[in-house]
Amino acid sequence: MLAACRSFIQICGRRNIASLSALSETHQMLQKTCRDFAEGELKPIAAKIDREHLFPKEQIKKMGELGLLAVTVPESLGGTGLDYLAYAIAMEEISRGCASTGVIMSVNNSLYLGPIDKFGNEKQKEKYIRPFTSGDKIGCFALSEPGNGSDAGAASTMAKNDGDKYILNGTKCWITNGYEANGIVVFATTDKSKKHKGISAFIVDKPTSGLSLGKKEDKLGIRGSSTCSLIFEDCPVPSENLLGEPGMGFKIAMMMLDAGRIGIASQALGIAQASLDCAMEYANKRTAFGNAIIKLQAIQIKLAEMAMRLESSRLLTWRAAYLKDQGKPYTKEAAMAKLSASEAATFCAHQCIQILGGMGYVSDMPAERHYRDARITEIYEGTSEIQRLVIAVNLIKEYSM
Ligand SMILES: Cc1cc2nc3c(=O)[nH]c(=O)nc-3n(C[C@H](O)[C@H](O)[C@H](O)COP(=O)(O)OP(=O)(O)OC[C@H]3O[C@@H](n4cnc5c(N)ncnc54)[C@H](O)[C@@H]3O)c2cc1C
Repeated sequence: MLAACRSFIQICGRRNIASLSALSETHQMLQKTCRDFAEGELKPIAAKIDREHLFPKEQIKKMGELGLLAVTVPESLGGTGLDYLAYAIAMEEISRGCASTGVIMSVNNSLYLGPIDKFGNEKQKEKYIRPFTSGDKIGCFALSEPGNGSDAGAASTMAKNDGDKYILNGTKCWITNGYEANGIVVFATTDKSKKHKGISAFIVDKPTSGLSLGKKEDKLGIRGSSTCSLIFEDCPVPSENLLGEPGMGFKIAMMMLDAGRIGIASQALGIAQASLDCAMEYANKRTAFGNAIIKLQAIQIKLAEMAMRLESSRLLTWRAAYLKDQGKPYTKEAAMAKLSASEAATFCAHQCIQILGGMGYVSDMPAERHYRDARITEIYEGTSEIQRLVIAVNLIKEYSM
């Protein structure tokens, strides 16, 4: 059945798609495939993998078979060959079932495969893309360091050119998929005096000599995904693993984060939608003062506000994806989408708990998990403060033209 779904998605990928007024038939069918998968395979395990900090290995493998780990990668490299709108739709549905699984999917798609697909040479693509499309291998993206997160251009991990290899020294932190990853896109500086223009990108195999893992972080939410530090101590990386040109690393990272933000916006939409689903179901069943609480205007107003923020954020997210698919600039729109959707997720999860009352505060119901999961979407791949800066910088540029 899964193989049939994968071929179906691949067939869809060959058709001309993308309309903003209504989803194409292809996008609707992809949405249904992902929704059914999330409902049947992810929702039932989401609480357990959160509670026990478990990587959803079996589900990730099935997602590889469905083509969900390489949604926009060309079919010639083992990917599904769909557009970014399709990726956004799939990310939302998967995250609606389980936000931890959503971030694992997002990092593999947009932050690991994305840069290799865009900047890799043929040899790199063959070696570092194909095995990462099926779920057999998983990738990660190592930009942040203990001393700099938002200020990523100040990277201090060094890459020293040594003939046919580079020697990496330094520590990367907060790396999603860090524990399970078999391949890493790492950013390191070859010349600190050039600041961000001295940063290069490398593909590093894991495990490899000179690379060790820090402790697994004990996080507030998305606890089914691993987050850890990567410690490079005289770690040799073959020169042929340089991604793009020397000094292009910062540009690669920023471009990939623009695209990645559409994925995180979609993850946030999934969490917001799951919160609305949970609140609606509970409000219909729970009675107070002789009536279902959904009859109370105070509850209806909360539900209306949740739905409005969710729907408007979804439009922003799909618009950013649509612009990317059209080859148009989308940096500002992706930042708006991530900012709006992440704040909508936090809002919706907060209101969901309120609507559930005491039941919102305990782990018998998913509301408290949605609340914990939502919070990270305002932090990673650029905090909300950084998104506001990105929007403002682009706005000023537009007005000065
Ligand atoms: C669970 C998790 C997973 C992550 N996964 C990855 C990953 O896979 N790969 C990776 O490379 N990184 C990852 N990160 C790192 C993440 O992207 C950073 O945490 C984030 O960019 C913020 O950086 P910071 O934590 O250093 O905060 P800081 O940069 O120290 O910021 C602290 C505060 O100052 C504010 N601030 C900073 N600069 C400005 C400014 N110029 N204007 C206004 N406000 C400002 C911030 O918004 C924030 O509120 C992850 C983080 C977490 C928590």
